[in-house]
Amino acid sequence: MKVAFGHMGTLTPIMEMILEDLGHEAITPNRPTRQTLALGAKHAPEFACIPFKIVLGTYLECLKLGADTLVSGGGYGPCRAGLYGELHRRILKDLGYEFDFIFFWPPLKKPFHFYKQLHKLKGHHSWVYLWRIIKKAYSKLAVLDDLEMMAQRIRPRELKHGSTSKGFEQAMDMMRQAKTGPEIASAGEEARALMQKVPFDDTRQPLKVGIIGEIYVQLEPFANYFLEEQLGHMGVEVRRSIYLTSYTRHDILSTRGDMGSRTLAMPYLAQKVGGHGQNSVGDIIRYAKNGYNGVIQLAPFSCIPEIVAKSLVPRLSKDYSIPVLTIFIDEQTGAAGIQTRLEAFVDLMDQRRSRSLLVGA
Ligand code: SF4
Repeated sequence: MKVAFGHMGTLTPIMEMILEDLGHEAITPNRPTRQTLALGAKHAPEFACIPFKIVLGTYLECLKLGADTLVSGGGYGPCRAGLYGELHRRILKDLGYEFDFIFFWPPLKKPFHFYKQLHKLKGHHSWVYLWRIIKKAYSKLAVLDDLEMMAQRIRPRELKHGSTSKGFEQAMDMMRQAKTGPEIASAGEEARALMQKVPFDDTRQPLKVGIIGEIYVQLEPFANYFLEEQLGHMGVEVRRSIYLTSYTRHDILSTRGDMGSRTLAMPYLAQKVGGHGQNSVGDIIRYAKNGYNGVIQLAPFSCIPEIVAKSLVPRLSKDYSIPVLTIFIDEQTGAAGIQTRLEAFVDLMDQRRSRSLLVGA
């Protein structure tokens, strides 16, 4: 099969490797662009959230490249995530594309359906073989998460502008080419060593910001206007609330989600509201307790779970004395507007920190 999938940050090389291990031709999507978004927005319902539109644009690009199968996965609701797989399928079929659609619900929610879809994808390979390649993919995922965290730590301390991003891209290339278990292990060591060679000043004390919100706009740099890189270049160290390994543990292999942040959220929001809405509430508290200087909430425009979380931001911000910037993103959002808001937020955090140091002196 010629199989394509949506692009989401560092998940892309993992999907490519799994598909190739299963003997498929991977039609690996390029990082989305403004054209991808415009293409998706043209055919998506206006109310759809931006991840839906970007992924739809990506599918259209991949179908034009000859993909005959699309692999996707989605949440179970109660927000629109529960509808999006089917909606993507119908829109593409209405546009006249012929393809097979393999859609995964969370395995513990619909185990039989998950099994059937996995069976289609694995073809004649044994379950033992499939288990081995999933374990291998997870080990690669762990290295990629580690490299991202290293880049987030080094970037605000780098001595030469842009050297972290350059090192990170080279490290990602090494990892992309590593396909077997031993190759992944040795490429992982080389990639980490490469990142450590980026010259940086470890005595700097950058501002620290937690990134929270909806998964796609957190993980896909195109969707968030390369926010991590922008902040790093403004001298800010970031840490996201979601990395792919934690998402796998909390949301794919469990139905409970990240219980740490959900428990913290309980006094403010005692139930799940879809997506990572409840987590966003708990994550603000977590970052405040861990001494972060601020939190940025990323939300697709009209994202219901994040709107619910946002309604609690003023209270949380006051109770935990932490500034929170919410950025709603849609296809009309402009890069310059985001940059201006980030600069203002960084100034605000900087002033707060200077004031608290003066008071403490
Ligand atoms: S979590 Fe938000 S962006 Fe994602 S499908 Fe639900 S409403 Fe849309």
